[in-house]
Amino acid sequence: MAGSELIGKEEAKEVMDILETGVFMRYGFDEERKGVFKVREFEKAFADYLGIGYTLGVTSGSAALKVALTAMDVGPGDEVIAPAFDFIATYEAILEVGAIPVMGDIDDSLNLDPDDIESKITPYTKCVIPVHMCGAAARIDTIIEVARKHNLLVLEDNAQASGGSYHGKKLGTFGDMGILSFDYYKTMTTGEGGMVITNSADLYNRSDWYHDHGHDHNPAVGRGDEGRSFLGFNFRMNEFQGAVGLAQLRKLDYIIAEQRKNKAAIKNALGEVSGIGFRKLFDPEGDTATFLGFNLPDEETTRRFQKLLSDKGVGTIYYKENTWHYAPRWEHLIARATANSKQFPFTNPLYKGNVEYRVEDIPHSEAIMSRTLFMIIPVKMAEETMNKTIEAIQEAAKEL
Ligand SMILES: *Cc1c(COP(=O)(O)O)cnc(C)c1O
Repeated sequence: MAGSELIGKEEAKEVMDILETGVFMRYGFDEERKGVFKVREFEKAFADYLGIGYTLGVTSGSAALKVALTAMDVGPGDEVIAPAFDFIATYEAILEVGAIPVMGDIDDSLNLDPDDIESKITPYTKCVIPVHMCGAAARIDTIIEVARKHNLLVLEDNAQASGGSYHGKKLGTFGDMGILSFDYYKTMTTGEGGMVITNSADLYNRSDWYHDHGHDHNPAVGRGDEGRSFLGFNFRMNEFQGAVGLAQLRKLDYIIAEQRKNKAAIKNALGEVSGIGFRKLFDPEGDTATFLGFNLPDEETTRRFQKLLSDKGVGTIYYKENTWHYAPRWEHLIARATANSKQFPFTNPLYKGNVEYRVEDIPHSEAIMSRTLFMIIPVKMAEETMNKTIEAIQEAAKEL
């Protein structure tokens, strides 16, 4: 649960600044706001933290994906490759812009496998979305190489690993664009919220315009007189989100450091279980440690171990059967049931491809997910809780 565990007086203080001026919107009201610009300040602080040129706060991580895909002109007729192990929002965002999601296989990091991308490329592929699932990096350097070779755009979905890095460089900053999520479950939270990040002035401008009805945010004129180049929508972050985000960002490195400690202790105990293996981390130093992924030799043993742990009060997640994080479990996707009765964009005549969602095309996902369990790593873990967890693991191991 991470950042949500640490809501305190720091967040309250930032929010009070807004309640005092009464200006809840990020734009306009220059007189009334008395110099308070929380979203702007949050964006600036995050750009500095990540070492990236441009950051744009938006209403959610899902919105951030839609804004970024729109900025990159991904749309009708295009295919976008995303991992089979993913949160559903990535696939939904692709469909929201009128493009078609294609399932990519995962490697032992449980993230998009760069070696599988080529087999999923068609004449319609325009973009790849690597997702840094459960706090740890995909092989993003190799993914970028493959994408460049085939002239594909890269949008990094870093909703689940804010503050994480890959060989010293912050996640989200490798691709043409990246996104972050600050929903209530994520590493840091603004209740709901997200961010679009990029080093491209052009992609930033297009995101900025699109996310606010086309407004060009020309500082020389009033809001009503601003120019526009195209139509947009409203995905504006509000000042409350910016305020909470500022306080949470200051805690981000602490959150990660505490999680790492707790994860190391639990991993140590699990390491004693016979036959156990761990999720492959290509850069353990950059892991945000929000989750601990581990596996057993086969599905039967995995399920038995999960049951033994659960009987002793330790919860784990078996994502292969989780209905929100494994594409073959999304019956509405398989049925191409969009909210639109005409099943757009699957039925769009501009789409010339022939996408299929078949488990045969993601053999490694099927194999590894069937024997993988995840444990959520909290920021705060009392010594007693930690000891109980370790004891439960040891007891379960004996009975396995
Ligand atoms: C949470 C999440 C999102 C969406 O973020 P929201 O802020 O909840 O809309 C997108 N992608 C992944 C991988 C996520 O985990």
